[in-house]
Amino acid sequence: MNNDILKTLYSEEDIENACKRLGEQITKDYQGENPIVIGVLKGAIFFMTDIVRDIDLYMDIDFIDVSSYHGGTQSSGSIELMKDVDIDVNGRNVLFIEDIIDTGRTLKYLEDLLSDRGAKSIKVCTLMDKPEGRVVEAKADYVGLEVPNEFVVGYGLDYNGKYRNLPYVGVLKPEVYSNK
Ligand code: 5GP
Ligand code: MG
Ligand code: MG
Repeated sequence: MNNDILKTLYSEEDIENACKRLGEQITKDYQGENPIVIGVLKGAIFFMTDIVRDIDLYMDIDFIDVSSYHGGTQSSGSIELMKDVDIDVNGRNVLFIEDIIDTGRTLKYLEDLLSDRGAKSIKVCTLMDKPEGRVVEAKADYVGLEVPNEFVVGYGLDYNGKYRNLPYVGVLKPEVYSNK
C-alpha cells in the first residue's frame, strides 16, 4: 500500500500537531458549553477520534454519513444522506468534524440540514481545506492543514474505498489510477 504513494503531504507528526492546536482552540472557544461533536463518516473517523481527545470539554459524540463521491476522484454534485445523527440537535451547539472541504457542497448540505432542525450554533472543524476546489460558498471555522488542488489519500481519506488506514496524508502515483 505504501508503495502506491508518490509523495507525503502531511506526516503523522504534522497531523498530531494540527489536532493539538485545534483542540486547544476549541476547548477555549466552547468553555462552559456542552456541544454535540459530529464526525462525518467515513473520512473523518481518525481525525474525529484523535481530536476529541485533545478537547477538554463535556461533549456528546455522534456520527453522520453523507455520500457525494461515489468512488472516484471527482465530486458528483448531489449529496445523499446515508446515516443520520441519533441525538436531537434542537437548541444545541453543533461542531462538525470533517476530513476535507473541497467543493463545499457537503458542508453546505450538513449546515442546512441541522439549521433546519433548530441547532443553536453550527461550526465546522476540518483537518484539511482545499480552497481552490470551492464551487459553493463554505467556510470552516477551524482548519488544520491547507492542501493544494490535488486528490489526497490516507488518515481516513480513500480512493475507491482503500488507503484510509495510511497513517499519513499523501498523493497517489498516477499509475494507480490507470491500473485500477
Ligand atoms: P466537498 O463536498 O467539499 O466537495 O467534499 C466532500 C468530501 O469529498 C470530503 O469530505 C471527502 O470525503 C471527499 N474529498 C474531497 N476532496 C478529497 C480528496 O482530495 N481526497 C479524498 N480521498 N476525498 C476527498
Ligand atoms: Mg468527508
Ligand atoms: Mg471518499
